[in-house]
Amino acid sequence: MIEKKPPAKQGENKQPVASEPQPGLLKRGIMRVASKPEPTPTMFEKILIANRGEIALRIQRACREMGIKTVAVHSVADADAKYVRLADESVCIGPAPSNQSYLNIPAIISAAEVTDAQAIHPGYGFLSENADFAERVEKSGFVFIGPRPETIRMMGDKVTAKLTMKKAGVPCVPGVDGALPDNPAEIIKIARSIGYPVIIKASGGGGGRGMRVVHTEAALVNAVTMTRSEAQAAFNNPMVYMEKFLENPRHIEFQVLADSYGNAVYLGERDCSMQRRHQKIIEEAPAPLLNTRLRNKIGERCAEACRKIGYRGAGTFEFLFENNEFYFIEMNTRVQVEHPVTEMITGIDIVQQQIRIAAGEKLSIRQRDIAFKGHAVECRINAEHPYKFTPSPGRITTWHTPGGPGIRVDSPVYANYFVPPNYDSMIGKIIAYGDTREQAMARMRIALSEMAVEGIDTNIPLHQELLLDAAFLRGGTSIHYLEHKLSERVKGE
Ligand code: ADP
Repeated sequence: MIEKKPPAKQGENKQPVASEPQPGLLKRGIMRVASKPEPTPTMFEKILIANRGEIALRIQRACREMGIKTVAVHSVADADAKYVRLADESVCIGPAPSNQSYLNIPAIISAAEVTDAQAIHPGYGFLSENADFAERVEKSGFVFIGPRPETIRMMGDKVTAKLTMKKAGVPCVPGVDGALPDNPAEIIKIARSIGYPVIIKASGGGGGRGMRVVHTEAALVNAVTMTRSEAQAAFNNPMVYMEKFLENPRHIEFQVLADSYGNAVYLGERDCSMQRRHQKIIEEAPAPLLNTRLRNKIGERCAEACRKIGYRGAGTFEFLFENNEFYFIEMNTRVQVEHPVTEMITGIDIVQQQIRIAAGEKLSIRQRDIAFKGHAVECRINAEHPYKFTPSPGRITTWHTPGGPGIRVDSPVYANYFVPPNYDSMIGKIIAYGDTREQAMARMRIALSEMAVEGIDTNIPLHQELLLDAAFLRGGTSIHYLEHKLSERVKGE
């Protein structure tokens, strides 16, 4: 059983009154040492982590290294989680369903209040891209570790996001600027000017939902009407837009860091083309076969866009990449699952950078200091059947993780851990680093063979198969590759 430490009482960590500066002295300027052009930022003493699973542990590790205390908030289902046990304090914020716990804004804010946390890290998923949450955090007197609420709101509206990026010089998928009109004749005209196939996308969409590909004019108007009504039902926003449908692109994204003083850098790119149903399963950095000049050009455009829009924090510019051209699709205003591959090739701790930026520090890294060294690949380990993809929650009876040169495992799992059925199926990530792509892949193959999980199904066999796949090993497979490969397997059965 886990022992809960009692939450600190309000004000418990404050300095004794006697040692606080006397207002009278301050007024006369006696306490001032020297006047500085900018306020000296002070690092947080305590951060509340508003997330669960491997990312809660990852953020906690970053905090512990920096000497920052952590508060874990958790649902009833996660009471025995590793990051809850290892946190300085923990608060149960509700029952297992996320909408009553990890999405419960008042419960999270009051947990921050009772524990005297100064800042809240939202991780990814859950409330990480919820502008209203970021606003509530700030209005309640805490620091939100992420971009300004206005930025999150703008990027959440894809029509506005795309327009903003286009203006900032980021290459976008050809299409119309702005939402589609109602008039069918005008819609047809727009599609003709773009050329078929086109894709209709919901401005408020996310998670790969609210999109429809149209190959012929006959199907167009009906497809727009259907996407509109689905968008209204799912996102409470009927606005849709149209862009060219790219037939065989890769997914390549750029990681950026920007501070509150107009400084921004890019940390290179990741290739996340190995996907199933828009869910990434293997990611790597750098992207194979990408020309260095093109990388630097697009990376610089992303950093410049951050400076132009006053972006703050870590962020990712997602692109589709086809025929050597980059096309922006969206920006993620949070840390991503696949951030470790970038950390491995740059040596930069992205989560610590997020915390430093939120505390008001200036970026200490200049672009010329960033070197991309070696190659890193990440396999997401999911609790699911490797080929049927049915979720496989339950008790993990054996859990043995790999090690050796270049291997990093980010996972909150331990032997006898129970995978709750309520959340995402990802239970950890293996990251392999090597001097070359070949070495990284070889190390990943060894790591996968060493990994032992019993009691539940995992997708490790699928990863093992992909790590021997000739096309993947050549590099540069498209976002459709895995689905095609899986459908061939079904036909062959
Ligand atoms: P979401 O926020 O729902 O993830 P995205 O705009 O990032 O939406 O698109 C999700 C996925 O849909 C992309 O990774 C890609 O596979 C596909 N997609 C989106 N736009 C296009 C396009 N113009 N052409 C081809 N595929 C696209």
